[in-house]
Amino acid sequence: MNDIKSKIMRITKYTGFIIGLLLFMTGAKAQFVLPALPYSFDALVPHIDSVTMRIHYNNHHKAYVNNLNTAINRHPELKNRSLEDLLFGIAQVPDDIRTAVRNNGGGHFNHSFFWMLLSPKKTKPSSKLEEAIVSRFGSMDNFKTEFQKTAMSRFGSGWVWLTVSAGKLKIMSTPNQDNPVMGDAPEKGAPILALDVWEHAYYLNYQSNREAYVKAFWNIVNWDKVSDLYKSYK
Ligand code: MN
Repeated sequence: MNDIKSKIMRITKYTGFIIGLLLFMTGAKAQFVLPALPYSFDALVPHIDSVTMRIHYNNHHKAYVNNLNTAINRHPELKNRSLEDLLFGIAQVPDDIRTAVRNNGGGHFNHSFFWMLLSPKKTKPSSKLEEAIVSRFGSMDNFKTEFQKTAMSRFGSGWVWLTVSAGKLKIMSTPNQDNPVMGDAPEKGAPILALDVWEHAYYLNYQSNREAYVKAFWNIVNWDKVSDLYKSYK
């Protein structure tokens, strides 16, 4: 998660100045900010079209960040808590903002994580990760089939994850903006790969064909990042 934090820290000085000015003028205190996207909106074409990418980042992700800040501003005692900390301790978040923190904090975490797992560059898993995948799922193809099946069986909106838990790889799915980092998740684990299967992630380009979107995902997975995460959790 340090990468997410460092990306947040790397927001340009100019943006920081504008945000600072706006906060000074409104008296609001935003805690969380939209991290910079590590590529352009059209970088993942044809697998993810640029309009979807722009709306997904500028509208959906930004709304999660704004709504999370609005919730946290109602409980200033939470202002110094990290996002991971808030999600892990979701059961202890005050009643009146718990759902907002779950949905919008989850949304902010999941999308920040998802963006860095995508890349226009062709990459492949490290030999260590590939070995672990083959040993757990039989082959890379079996792993992909299993992951796709999980993506297709998520009814409504949610996410598919590859996690490491007690050194073992596991595919799991969560509804809405829940994730395996949340303290009350039925299945917990450290995520190393994620796929957003909300319709907003694919509908403009793929309409109702979620399967085509899920299959296209393999062309843009940032395996370098997935391999780094695997190494850090193994
Ligand atoms: Mn999304």
